[in-house]
Amino acid sequence: MTGIEIIIEKCVGCRLCIKECMFGAIEMKDKKAVINDNCTLCGACVPSCKFDAIRIESDKTQETADISKYNGVWVFAEQKHCAVSQVAFELLGEGRKLADTLSIPLSAVLIGSNLQDEANKLIAFGADNIYYVDNQSVEYYNDESYTDIFVQLIEKYKPEIVLIGATTYGRSLAPRVASRLNTGLTADCTGLAIDPEKRLLLQTRPAFGGNLMATIICPNHRPQMATVRPKVMKPLEPDYSRIGEIIHPDVIIPTDLKTKVLDAVQTVCETVSLTEADIIVSGGRGLGEAKNYALVEELARVLGGAAGASRAIVDAGWVDYSHQVGQTGKTVGPKVYFACGISGAVQHLAGMSSSDIIIAINKDPDAPIFKIATFGIVGDVREILPELIKKFKERLG
Ligand SMILES: Cc1cc2nc3c(=O)[nH]c(=O)nc-3n(C[C@H](O)[C@H](O)[C@H](O)COP(=O)(O)OP(=O)(O)OC[C@H]3O[C@@H](n4cnc5c(N)ncnc54)[C@H](O)[C@@H]3O)c2cc1C
Ligand code: SF4
Ligand code: SF4
Repeated sequence: MTGIEIIIEKCVGCRLCIKECMFGAIEMKDKKAVINDNCTLCGACVPSCKFDAIRIESDKTQETADISKYNGVWVFAEQKHCAVSQVAFELLGEGRKLADTLSIPLSAVLIGSNLQDEANKLIAFGADNIYYVDNQSVEYYNDESYTDIFVQLIEKYKPEIVLIGATTYGRSLAPRVASRLNTGLTADCTGLAIDPEKRLLLQTRPAFGGNLMATIICPNHRPQMATVRPKVMKPLEPDYSRIGEIIHPDVIIPTDLKTKVLDAVQTVCETVSLTEADIIVSGGRGLGEAKNYALVEELARVLGGAAGASRAIVDAGWVDYSHQVGQTGKTVGPKVYFACGISGAVQHLAGMSSSDIIIAINKDPDAPIFKIATFGIVGDVREILPELIKKFKERLG
């Protein structure tokens, strides 16, 4: 069983454990410590008690896995409508580096139907082999069946590292799989590396509101699992002469599902999706008022791109949250990113700093955005944007 217990006879009510608990899970009642429902069983309070009054009992989640049995880097090749998502190719690029550092194979896991061409493409983008579960009943993503199949594969082949895109599907799948396997998961990593001595995956992600970067390790359990948002990593140049193996693993396809996907319908958008756009024009509080966001939209339209926003103007209600770029918005990586009247707070940079070219327009020459900008224009965005729109219209017709 798993649980935490205060040994009442030993507790002297010193309150030391309360300070140690970051989750507010310890209260005092009748001068004795009491654990409430906030407890995450993190264990931090145990060593703080000088009276051995706190006991954590662990079940197999606390046991250490036999790490030596695990080998290989895996990437979940998410697919929709028979096409592998771009994030999978990005993860293969990063996975290749990790696998080469550890001298272990890089594999992709593909679940769906009629995906032979996509499997070959994954090899071209860096995979050594593909575990391809080809079955009509798993054509569409389903939490239950995909989790079950993925867990079967991991239990059978025992990869050391598993990378999953932090997409809607990935964010649903990864914690389910990690929980079933009793292993750790680091969400929304912005950097991955290997500790060559200990062969550990170093998973870096923003913490405490983006004010510091935390590097997280998973020393006792396998696989080491991480999700990474789209556009954070770069794919390799495809090499269609690469040769890899496509393995059709023997798995049990679950049939007794609570949810069945009958059909998937694609929405048709007139505007370019923010995460897929090559050009993004984003506006911030420097626009002055809500109506000036139309200038941002106009320039984006003229350039065939998408319109983004800082959180300040989303919070102010000038524009919908779906446009927000940054740590709590979308992560983007266009060829060109216009930051118009955006100061360049770390939380905004977290979502766009991998853009190839950054053009910043700001009236303050010391604005932090200029530190990462490729080109900077110092001036009033409300005057500069109409000029840019006019010039680009003339040039592009
Ligand atoms: C946990 C957390 C998560 C967050 N997540 C995000 C996120 O995902 N995305 C995000 O964007 N922010 C996020 N933030 C907020 C972030 O810290 C900043 O507050 C925000 O990015 C500021 O937006 P801004 O640059 O538009 O506004 P400001 O910081 O107010 O900057 C406005 C800029 O416009 C310039 N300016 C003013 N007038 C003009 C003019 N007429 N012409 C040209 N320039 C002008 C100013 O010099 C200034 O640099 C988050 C914050 C926290 C704490
Ligand atoms: S630190 Fe130990 S003795 Fe002190 S209040 Fe907490 S449980 Fe009781
Ligand atoms: S185990 Fe962690 S969350 Fe639970 S009471 Fe102790 S410090 Fe708080």
